[in-house]
Amino acid sequence: SIGSVDSFLDQMKPYQNQMRLTYETKGSWQGIFFNLVLPILLIGGIWVYIMRRMNGGVGGPGGQIFNIGKSKATLFEGESMAITFDHVAGLDEAKEEVREVVDFLKNPQKYTALGGKIPKGVLLIGPPGTGKTLLAKAMAGEAKVPFFSISGSDFVELFVGVGASRVRDLFKQAREKAPCIIFVDEIDAVGRARGKSMFQGNDERENTLNALLVEMDGFSSDKGVIILAATNRPDVLDSALLRPGRFDRQITIDQPDAVGREQIFRVHLAPIKIVDNLDIKRLAEQTPGFAGADIANVCNEAALIAARKGKTAVDMSDFQDAIDRVIGGLEKKNKIISPEEKRIIAYHEAGHAIMGWFLRYAHPLLKVSIIPRGVAALGYAQYIPSEQYLYTTEQLTDQMCMMLGGRVAEDIVFGRISTGAQNDLERITKMAYAMVSIYGMNDKVGNVSFYDLQNEYGFQKPYSEETGKIIDEEVRKIIDNAYIRTKKLLTEKRSELNLLAEELLKNEVLHKDDLVHLFGKRPFDEVLIDNATSKDSAA
Ligand code: ADP
Ligand code: ZN
Repeated sequence: SIGSVDSFLDQMKPYQNQMRLTYETKGSWQGIFFNLVLPILLIGGIWVYIMRRMNGGVGGPGGQIFNIGKSKATLFEGESMAITFDHVAGLDEAKEEVREVVDFLKNPQKYTALGGKIPKGVLLIGPPGTGKTLLAKAMAGEAKVPFFSISGSDFVELFVGVGASRVRDLFKQAREKAPCIIFVDEIDAVGRARGKSMFQGNDERENTLNALLVEMDGFSSDKGVIILAATNRPDVLDSALLRPGRFDRQITIDQPDAVGREQIFRVHLAPIKIVDNLDIKRLAEQTPGFAGADIANVCNEAALIAARKGKTAVDMSDFQDAIDRVIGGLEKKNKIISPEEKRIIAYHEAGHAIMGWFLRYAHPLLKVSIIPRGVAALGYAQYIPSEQYLYTTEQLTDQMCMMLGGRVAEDIVFGRISTGAQNDLERITKMAYAMVSIYGMNDKVGNVSFYDLQNEYGFQKPYSEETGKIIDEEVRKIIDNAYIRTKKLLTEKRSELNLLAEELLKNEVLHKDDLVHLFGKRPFDEVLIDNATSKDSAA
């Protein structure tokens, strides 16, 4: 899967860097260069630079060298903040979630008088180009407050201490302008988990992150400074950032579905002269996998193409050309899913959903989607887990069957399988091993539990070779039986599977209500609390 290759490469980085470090300190000419010549050149360069500034260079009093610790944030205020929620198409749930924050910024006293706690930080999670920056700007526009925008990578510089001082400077400016919004794009550039890498340059980044944490703790939100941050990699963030009082509110922004894309088209078509009969719905249908930024791009390209041809209004053929052009660019980035792949993903997800619907102890479905999400996930299904801490064997096996539903659907519909089930299989394997070796749920292995092997026993297994073999065998049996059971049920429900998959291909996202509409009420009781997501990845 894409995901695991990525993280494998990530894991390799520290080692590579470590190797390079030892190589450089061997006293080779590179070592001499980096340790001796380069610093001299740098100091000399800085000295010359300062002298130039002092001799009346551009940049006003002090010159730029003394500004290096100042934040590089861009400030938008007044007229330039004309962006409102109307400019943000779709994203209804996200807008709803941030409305409270906007309300607070408009009228902080109303909230603080009642002793209410307003979030200090909101983390926007989603792939690039889906409108995270736009939403943040619209919040500032709606609240009519100043907006500081900076990218995480802008904090990090070569010189020690610069990042931290930029953070402090940013917060100082923000406090002077309060109520206001600070927006940190790509927060993962500063916010990666501390202390996991071995290379030295990290000290500077960690100092910057620490400064950010200190600043976030140092003011209370009644000062009216709200910090928004965006990332596509919440998994790499330092957990300290996500603690209460920091970015404790998280909003996920997905790639738009067909309806969302149509809405985004409408926003970006507004300023463009188009022919009267332009079929906007068809444009949306032809652009699966496009983010808002890609759609904005298509509209712009189409207008340029039409202008080049000397037309008075942009028509469908111009949009067709523009879409082809943008797809060309996206294909290079590997972001486009072929129609066959889309079919496989639809049947895979439908397989999960059908199993979830017709198994008593599986978590009933909340939402199933074949719109790619996040770094490696192609489709996903979201379930309503029941509120419980104890699971019976029946419950665990039902859930295992639901997770196998994707792979089995591919098997019975296409007669072959894909790499898309990697995440499912990983979870099933863990679950089965836990049943046998931790929860004592297997007759042959018996009522023993080898919990927390790494910590308790070091590297030595506390059981014999023979027991190990039995555990492996029993795990296989559990999974094989689940597979057989899943195949049987899905074969019985084949027409439902087809129906759901075809609906998914048409609509891309289906909710629980849509399933009730297709199959009638789910035949079992359910409790609603939080939601859980199962992602599917593929190579
Ligand atoms: P992100 O911050 O998530 O990478 P941006 O907010 O910078 O994405 O989006 C880039 C551009 O794409 C926006 O300026 C806007 O023109 C367009 N765009 C993205 N999402 C939307 C949306 N939901 N509605 C309207 N335009 C959008
Ligand atoms: Zn799956």
